Amino acid sequence: MIQITALCAFSDNYIWLLQDTDTRRCAVVDPGDAAPVQAWLAAHPDWVLSDILITHHHHDHVGGVQALKNATDAKVYGPARETIPAREVALVDNDRINVLGLGFDVIDVPGHTSGHIAFYHQGMLFCGDTLFAAGCGRLFEGTPEQMHTSLTRLASLPEDTQVYCAHEYTLSNLRFAAAVEPGNPDVADRLADVIQKRAAGTITLPSNLALEKLTNPFLRTGETSVKEKLDERAGAANRSPSAVFAALRAWKDTF
Ligand code: ZN
Ligand code: FE
Repeated sequence: MIQITALCAFSDNYIWLLQDTDTRRCAVVDPGDAAPVQAWLAAHPDWVLSDILITHHHHDHVGGVQALKNATDAKVYGPARETIPAREVALVDNDRINVLGLGFDVIDVPGHTSGHIAFYHQGMLFCGDTLFAAGCGRLFEGTPEQMHTSLTRLASLPEDTQVYCAHEYTLSNLRFAAAVEPGNPDVADRLADVIQKRAAGTITLPSNLALEKLTNPFLRTGETSVKEKLDERAGAANRSPSAVFAALRAWKDTF
């Protein structure tokens, strides 16, 4: 059986830890800092780190890779189109890898960075800084069209897919979502829930795709409520969902 928990890093990063309870092997996703992973391994000496999965090249996702590689025999997987320290397996769209006995599909999701990838196994998605709970990553390297296509692809996965993203940004994302759709009751309910969770210091992840489709404005660019809000702000009609997405992302950048 696979158990998934979050190791906290820096101020708001999560390093996802996957544990195979049958074999006592484990994997981590995006270890931006080696210290939390090494502390966990030191506290659990009968566990072996066998795999390191990387979604994109930003330092807060790869900063711990080399130290973990030096300390363990873990295999490092990462996107082929980005420079990833100690990478052994370079992945492209539609590759399939086996990690802890599970098959993971590699999904190309350019936008936040140009080579960003996500890892999908039935019921679980590790999407780095592409899809966040109630939000999406900033466009550092890609175009709005690329990011919109990437998010649309992720949103087409089964609705019961758990979303394991790499940052605790849910509260600020929902405040923005509430500004975009003040009349959306699902956003209001989720915002109230997340305010409570964060006040208690509780993690707000994983999310799931069903909830994201109801509350994430970046997955709702085809909704009349979202489109009309942007038309009202811009004073002009945003025609296509990808144009709506571009205007929405630009607004969030200064929100
Ligand atoms: Zn990033
Ligand atoms: Fe990040």
